[in-house]
Amino acid sequence: MWRALCEHAIGAVVAAATLSLGWAAPTPPPSPTPELYSPQTVSELKKLEHAALTSDYGWRQVAHLANNIGPRLSGSAQAQKAVEYVAVELKALGLEVQLEKVMVPHWVRGDETASLVQFPGQAPGTTQKVVLTALGGSVATPPDGLTAEVAVVRDFDELKSLGKEKIGGRIVVFNYAFDRRMAEQGWGGEAYGEAVVYRSDAPSAAARLGAVAVLIRSVGNAAYRLPHTGLTTYAADAPKIPAAALAEEDADLIAALVPQGAVRLHLVLTPKELPDAVSYNVIADLKGSEHPEQVVIVSGHLDSWDLGTGAIDDGAGVAVAMEAAHLVRQLGLRPRRTIRVIAWMNEENGLRGGETYAAEHASDIGNQFAAIETDGGAGHPLGIYIAGQPGLRTILQPIANVLRDSGAGLLDFRDEVGADIDPLAKLGVPNFSPIQDSRFYFNYHHTAADTLDKIDRHELAENAAINAVLSYGLANLEQPLPQ
Ligand SMILES: [Zn+2]
Repeated sequence: MWRALCEHAIGAVVAAATLSLGWAAPTPPPSPTPELYSPQTVSELKKLEHAALTSDYGWRQVAHLANNIGPRLSGSAQAQKAVEYVAVELKALGLEVQLEKVMVPHWVRGDETASLVQFPGQAPGTTQKVVLTALGGSVATPPDGLTAEVAVVRDFDELKSLGKEKIGGRIVVFNYAFDRRMAEQGWGGEAYGEAVVYRSDAPSAAARLGAVAVLIRSVGNAAYRLPHTGLTTYAADAPKIPAAALAEEDADLIAALVPQGAVRLHLVLTPKELPDAVSYNVIADLKGSEHPEQVVIVSGHLDSWDLGTGAIDDGAGVAVAMEAAHLVRQLGLRPRRTIRVIAWMNEENGLRGGETYAAEHASDIGNQFAAIETDGGAGHPLGIYIAGQPGLRTILQPIANVLRDSGAGLLDFRDEVGADIDPLAKLGVPNFSPIQDSRFYFNYHHTAADTLDKIDRHELAENAAINAVLSYGLANLEQPLPQ
């Protein structure tokens, strides 16, 4: 599709150049390059950007999700309340709302305590408290807990080198550090990517060698003795053992004591895995005037972890997607293609929402024009990440030029830009997300400190501006996107 357009364009340029030699043509030649956005669309994009930066609609939405509803783990009463709330709000904007049924895991956190009951230099009759939180999906210890000697490893290679003899019967601590300097340079997502493999894979790796439980060093930045939860995944070929994340300080403490002599830890985790629950993606359409069947998705995920109130992860993403539709309505604009707001369910511990949507739309994938997701908090955006064909850069350049006014004019490519929309990317749908300041996001990510105060209103509005300008621009693009 893209190649054909290019060749057509080159032909038009040559024809125009030939016509202009020698004499003046009686009528102006056709535009030598295919138009991407009409002058009217460009002027509307500028209006949307300005309106976004002064609107507080998105702020009020994330404030309600975080403060009034609270944590929204899949299967919880709060997740259901959030589905109903967002559906009502989007109906009030005049959008056509449908709920797409999704069966979601229903994991519930229980007690989670731990203490060192034996360690070098211990005062008689004392223990040392250890701060941790169960990883999502973890199985429980016996109700009274379990006690075992601790082994500390940095990574999978060290685990293997110790082997069954030194791992069997032990609680294994994986002390792999999130790269703080990387995050401080603005590469928070990349630092997360390097360390998160221990959260997902360490329990099964250690269980294969006979470990009785796994504690990972929290995957996150900052050190205020806050543990970071997140999903772990059990492999089919390994026993399921309890798994938790230690606060960074407690990982350091254990790593300091173990070389001095035997350390034994008592661990109590009592989470429960209940039967899968019925939940929903909230899907709301602002119908297109010319191609209502073609949809531009603008989205965030509605579920959150249970420790905080899900403000930055990802109430903010849902709020800025809702704001995009709100602004288009407020300015009285009618997009040519449909702008579809989606609040995804179950990004955090199953991705069932994104996978269900992609499966249900695989047969009309050609009408899934583009998908945008915001899921990196609410920090200042620098531009737009693209996952798709290289030709998308040229098509997005006029949009980037509009966003440059608020410092968000950068375009950059990534293999994956949003977990919920990635199943669509794998079917060829171009994916986009704001490039957000990631220096501080992983201080709070998946902790009890993911709360509303971490969001700067102006930066949230800047993210809303990207969602509004990008979704409306794509909805009014004068040509197809390369898939
Ligand atoms: Zn998220």
